[in-house]
Amino acid sequence: MTTTMIPAVPKGKAHCNTCGGDRNHDVLHTEQTSWHDDEQEIYGSDRYETLKCCGCEGIKLRHISHFFEYDEPKVYYFPPAIFRQIPEWFTGLRLNLNPKISLLKSF
Ligand SMILES: [Zn+2]
Repeated sequence: MTTTMIPAVPKGKAHCNTCGGDRNHDVLHTEQTSWHDDEQEIYGSDRYETLKCCGCEGIKLRHISHFFEYDEPKVYYFPPAIFRQIPEWFTGLRLNLNPKISLLKSF
């Protein structure tokens, strides 16, 4: 069964959308499955983790999928990781522009 081992992923580190970056997470629960096709000589495994952010205490799901041809496992988050946050100045800019936009629309 050594062929289906998932390579190590930094255990507690995960991206948090709320905190806006990598944060330590508690792993609350882990489910792991693996499969092997003897005829085609292919194998892979999936690990599902319930994570709790140590910063904002938000809960997310991490799916680590490993296929024997991958160099490293693919990591998916639910909800998906957002790496670009809307800057604070943008919100202010949009508010300032709104009256002009509605004015333009009236023409
Ligand atoms: Zn967080």
